[in-house]
Amino acid sequence: MPYTNYHPVCLDLNGRRVLIVGGGAIALEKLESLLPFSGARIDVVSPEARREIREWHDEGKLTWLRRDFEVADVAPYFMVIAATDDPELNALVYKTGNDGNKLSNSVDDPVNCNFIMAALVRRGPMQVAVSSAGASPALAQRIRNRVRSEILTEELGVLGEFLGDRRPLVKSRLPGYKIRQAFWEGIIDSDLPAILVRDPEAADARFLQALDEACSKAPGRFGFRKGKAWIVGAGPGDPELLTLKAVRALQKADVVLYDRLVNPAILENAPKKAKCIYVGKEVGHPGRKASGKGRQRSINKAVIAIARAGLTVVRLKGGDPFVFGRGGEEALALHAAGVDYEVVPGISSSVAGPAAAGIPVTHRGVSIAFGVFAAHEAEGRDAIPWDAAARMPTAVFLMGVDRLPHIVERLMDHGRDPKTPVAVVSKATHDDQRVAVGTLRDIAQRAAGLPAPAVIVVGEVVHVAAELSQVVGEALAA
Ligand code: SAH
Repeated sequence: MPYTNYHPVCLDLNGRRVLIVGGGAIALEKLESLLPFSGARIDVVSPEARREIREWHDEGKLTWLRRDFEVADVAPYFMVIAATDDPELNALVYKTGNDGNKLSNSVDDPVNCNFIMAALVRRGPMQVAVSSAGASPALAQRIRNRVRSEILTEELGVLGEFLGDRRPLVKSRLPGYKIRQAFWEGIIDSDLPAILVRDPEAADARFLQALDEACSKAPGRFGFRKGKAWIVGAGPGDPELLTLKAVRALQKADVVLYDRLVNPAILENAPKKAKCIYVGKEVGHPGRKASGKGRQRSINKAVIAIARAGLTVVRLKGGDPFVFGRGGEEALALHAAGVDYEVVPGISSSVAGPAAAGIPVTHRGVSIAFGVFAAHEAEGRDAIPWDAAARMPTAVFLMGVDRLPHIVERLMDHGRDPKTPVAVVSKATHDDQRVAVGTLRDIAQRAAGLPAPAVIVVGEVVHVAAELSQVVGEALAA
């Protein structure tokens, strides 16, 4: 079906008369969206009406005209909505309204409409209306739901109201449209929205301070913008495994510094104008340790400098920033530099990697604890507590694919049963994820050639994965 090119508008229905023809479920649905906010004066014409409609009539919220619709009815109305379950009557109502130049809508019947209503998200004064022009209401609903949960948050509604209340003040103090626009943009990008969430009075003080500064400054140069650094976990790879907070931090970013393990698709959450800079560290290569350290220092310096320049910088790391991600070091450096920063945890591959292969890291009756170990040798010495790793019901090793023979050897040396099942999950949650399963004795051979990044899971929990259990069984029998 070819769709109509609608032009969206926002109607001021306050005090205007709206006629709804019909008193059943369809009418009720329209009333539920119109009554609470629109301010319209609504009349319902129908011989019968649902209990809610009768109650609203009794409460004076609308007027129920208990009779059949008549063509002459539409004259005094601004908008006419046909909401009966009789298509012919609906078409007549629409036609009468349309002929009289009324806004006319027959519910769920786009041919008999000169306007349609969009799927709506409303937060205070902020609204997003989504329309598919009737092409796919289900898709429009989906988008609406995403807008509601990910974009138009309640805080933005509060912010919209806060800013709206102060518009007249700003207009009276700052001359010129351009200057005011720059001021508002500066405010929205500043720390004020975050302050408002915690403390409206402090936000008010901050606002007045910013306005004073703006008044005394040369046009376009406002000094109140404060930089901020975000240390953000990007999850194991699948962009859908980002947290909402991570997405929001990215949306605010002026600069993104991202690591090797970050899926490039995730960067698409940053604004187009943001600079995304690859600062990939080669994790797990002992030979590059020295340069790695220097690089870490220069990353810390860059983050601090960018934030001090008043920009929002996101330090994006694979998995969780505090699980072998050196996020702690970066947080300490930011703290020492007095830079405002926030840490956004991510879904760590240590848990999500096994899960992506169907393996729970703990399982009732099978494993009551799991340990996560960095399998590469730190500073040239073997720092792994092998006795603890060998006793851990579930032992997960990161950065270990190229040292798999060494790892299994050590675990068996420390008393782990050679028949213990092991899984290696390579590129977990990526499109090219691969899984190898075996036992301590043969996994090195079975997983040979699986590319990094990969997690190694050692323990009976590998059996729990329904899809793997048969392979494990065969491996154990062999
Ligand atoms: N902070 C990260 C871990 C960084 S160390 C986290 O919490 O996930 C890097 C190691 O993580 C890799 O060597 C690999 O063992 C593991 N890893 C990261 N992403 C992975 C993925 N998608 N699949 C399998 N292993 C992954």
